[in-house]
Formats: sequence, structure tokens, C-alpha cells
Amino acid sequence: MTGKVGWPGGRDFAFTIFDDTDLTTLEKVVPVYALLDDLGLRTTKSVWPIKGPGTPRIPGLTSEDPEYLKWTLDLQQRGFEIGYHGATYVTAARDVVIKAIEQFRVLYGHYPMSMANHSGCRESIYWGADRVTGMHRLAYNVLTRFAKTDMFRGHKAGDPLFWGDICEAKVRYVRNFTYTDINTLAACPLMPYHDPDRPYVRAWFAASEGADVTAFNRCVSEANQDRLEAEGGACIMYTHLASGFSVGGVVDGRFEALMRRLAAKNGWFVPVATLLDYLAVNQGTTVITARQRRGLERRWLWAKLMVGPT
Ligand SMILES: [Zn+2]
Repeated sequence: MTGKVGWPGGRDFAFTIFDDTDLTTLEKVVPVYALLDDLGLRTTKSVWPIKGPGTPRIPGLTSEDPEYLKWTLDLQQRGFEIGYHGATYVTAARDVVIKAIEQFRVLYGHYPMSMANHSGCRESIYWGADRVTGMHRLAYNVLTRFAKTDMFRGHKAGDPLFWGDICEAKVRYVRNFTYTDINTLAACPLMPYHDPDRPYVRAWFAASEGADVTAFNRCVSEANQDRLEAEGGACIMYTHLASGFSVGGVVDGRFEALMRRLAAKNGWFVPVATLLDYLAVNQGTTVITARQRRGLERRWLWAKLMVGPT
């Protein structure tokens, strides 16, 4: 597996971003999206459809905020994908998840195409120790001091936090492993893939790690961009565009320079679900074998041990 596929329109590589909505305010993200829009990059902006109760550990706007909703709808009109980051910023029981997913459909005209679990939300699906299998689960539990052994419940049938059946019916792609390399497809050539041990997720995707502006800029450095291009690969950056990408209305200079350089290349700059749909048609949705799963898990755990991706 080389991670090399032919891209539409004779493009040399593919690049996109899944923006985890944590900490989003309009002040922080509007300038960043204005830049992406100007450069012709079309990416995925995740949302929380509804407000949760209380004060969350990680706050951020939800689609219940009228001004923010209007802005996300405008982004969608302009060709960005609106993705799903769970019901809200705190743990949501099944009835809340149903309300949020239906609200997503009402607001954005379709059920979520791509999603990622939110940190600490206990209805997260196949998360914590359940992301990995067998010996890797044991290694993960040791690494996390057994703090996440049985924490996440979205896939546990009968649990008050269970919503696996809804995920299977409504959500097309869910993010699991992140890798440090810019070429996500080289790290996970099988994506989007189905894991028969995790049946409530129709298809999984991987991402490249760039949690904040510093990590993002490191991953999309000039040398890495050139290698992504030379390898004909695909990059799905997983980041939080509200984490340092713009301050006081001014976009980070290094980020802007890197995005301008990237956008000038002959890349395919489409949202996450568009990219994954293309891969699914081009190479099919692989049902991974136990051996392939072990490979993905081992590479992720190793990287986690070394540099700690999410
Ligand atoms: Zn999050």
C-alpha cells in the first residue's frame, strides 16, 4: 500500500481539514474561514447542534446561537461541509442525542456525514479503551492508568447513553486514529473502512494530528507539503481552528503563509466527506481484517506513546 490514488481532474494530491468546534467564538474563527474561503480550500467545520446544561469544561458556540447558525449556514452555502461533534459540549443521554441529530438535519438539510467524538463526553462511541483491541487495549489502559477503561458508553446496547443504532443509521463517517504524518492516507490506506468488531460505525476515517496552530503548522510545513504532493497522498488535518489560528481578528502569519503555499499547488481541496466518498467509490469500503486492525492500532499507540496524538 502506497497511499497513491488518482485524484479527480488530474489533481496531484488531496488536502482537507476537520475542524473540531471546541472553544469556537465568531471572533476567533471568522477570519480563519475567510482565508480558507479566499484560497479556494473547502473543508469541514464541525458543530454542536444544541446547548448543554451548566458550564462545560470546554465551551464553545452551538447552533442554537442565531448569529453563529447563520454563519455556519453561509459556510455550507459556500461549499464547506458542516460536520458533527456530538450533541453538545457535555455528556448527552440518548433522548438528547436524538434531538440533536434531528435538529442537525433540520438546520443543515441532511444527517451528519462526518463526525468526531468530543473529549470527555461519555456517550462517545467506541472511545477510550474501546478504540483499541486485545493486547492494544491493555497497553492503552496502562498508558492512561486505567482512567478510561469503561468510561464511554455510546456503543453499549441497553445503556442510558447508548446511541449506536442511531449512529449506524444516520452517520456516514466517524474519526478514530490520528497520526503524526501529513499523508493520512499513507498511514491509513484502507480508509474509509468498516471494522466488524465495531458494527455501529458504518465507516471509520483517520486524520493527521495538528491540535492547535503550532502543531498544525508543524505538520503542514513546506517540506511536508512537498512530500504529500510527491506521494500523491491525502491529508485530513484534525485540528481546533479556534485554538490560536487568529488573535484579535488577525490570522496567524505562519498559518496564512503555509495555506497560501499549499493552495497554489495542484491539489484537490474538498471537505472530509467528499474526499471519503471519493475513496469509497474508488477503492470500496474495506472491511478490515484482524491483522489490518492490529497494524492501525499499533502505529497509533506507538505515536501516542511518542508524541501523544488524540
Ligand atoms: Zn472536541
